[in-house]
Amino acid sequence: MTRCRLCGSAALASVVDLGATPPCESFLAADQLDQPEPAYPLHLRVCTDCWLAQIPPLITPEETFTQYAYFSSYSTSWVEHARTFVADAVQRLALGPDAFVVEVASNDGYLLRHVVDRGIRCLGIEPSVNVGAAAREAGVPTLTEFLSPDTGSRVRAEHGPADLVVANNVYAHIPDVVGFTQGLRALVADDGWVSIEVQHLLTLIEENQYDTIYHEHFQYYTVASAIRALESGGLALVDVELLPTHGGSVRLWARPAEVAGDPSHRVADVLAREKAAGLLELSGYSEFSARVATVRRDLLRFLIEAAERGETVVGYGAPGKGNTLLNHCGIRPDLLPYTVDRNPYKHGRFTPGTRIPILPPERIAADRPDYVLVLPWNLRAELVEQLSFIHDWGGRLVFPIPELSIVEVAPKEVTA
Ligand SMILES: [Zn+2]
Repeated sequence: MTRCRLCGSAALASVVDLGATPPCESFLAADQLDQPEPAYPLHLRVCTDCWLAQIPPLITPEETFTQYAYFSSYSTSWVEHARTFVADAVQRLALGPDAFVVEVASNDGYLLRHVVDRGIRCLGIEPSVNVGAAAREAGVPTLTEFLSPDTGSRVRAEHGPADLVVANNVYAHIPDVVGFTQGLRALVADDGWVSIEVQHLLTLIEENQYDTIYHEHFQYYTVASAIRALESGGLALVDVELLPTHGGSVRLWARPAEVAGDPSHRVADVLAREKAAGLLELSGYSEFSARVATVRRDLLRFLIEAAERGETVVGYGAPGKGNTLLNHCGIRPDLLPYTVDRNPYKHGRFTPGTRIPILPPERIAADRPDYVLVLPWNLRAELVEQLSFIHDWGGRLVFPIPELSIVEVAPKEVTA
């Protein structure tokens, strides 16, 4: 990678080099274990002109998303998040029965079904054929396309301009950030709104969330760099909300630059926090690589010492980010004999690169391990509760991030 994909600058500085890893969702079937497995460099750099953090775009979204296994509606908390968002957006923008809402990367319609329920006209734009088909079956009009300036113009010509364009959890997933942003501008009415949710680089850096760096995420935004990205398509940031999702996200509210006006005080507040964290100069990034190395050494030391004491450690969860952590740390079945996951699709499969077996969650109660290493650390509160049964045999939870912590779980409360 020689040029910044947002501003074209050649001034890219290394933030952290995580080595080479396979795509994080490429779980292996048993018959693939004797076959070669491609690995791609995972090296995060930051542009010192526009401060967009980025990895090389080696795996195209076309490869990842044309048949996608992730259906948003499977996650109860996401469906609830979407329902609340729609209710708030309808109120905030006073969307009436004549309004038109477009969602980009609309998945299986988990968000737009709430728009349909309110009698508001809407359209999803979703590249995955199978996921988009599920949306149409659920009554959500959905176009199978990737968003480009051309797609945006065609949708506008056919359906009219959108009063609200929603782009949640997609702005990191597209290597052509400028073309995508121009596509958003083509979709939105000249006095309309764009709402984008994306992971926040400030919390990624502050909380050592380096495992959220993986090949599906091409870039990582501060609000400062998001403003530059929006500008590249003729949009301007008006307001921002900080959200707890994915360990720390931002919701960006943008409008066509001509009508945007001054940004809110909340924008100024977040920009001030990012500046104070040193993220608009190299100083904010310079310690990150050393802190990542500490996370790795602490986790490996714990696993090796537990193994030498004859204690058992198993994993909980097989999320995409877990594979960045396992590959970067070099953790294989000698240190972690298996992990468990609630998604039946993953049972009997193996983690990419590290080839750790994935089993059903019931295995933990059957084996009574001394420690359970939690890979989806972002669900910490929920999992401390859900896995409290390991207290029965003195089991403890281990969280690797933001730093290694070993947690005694409270016994399950017995209700009379
Ligand atoms: Zn740049």
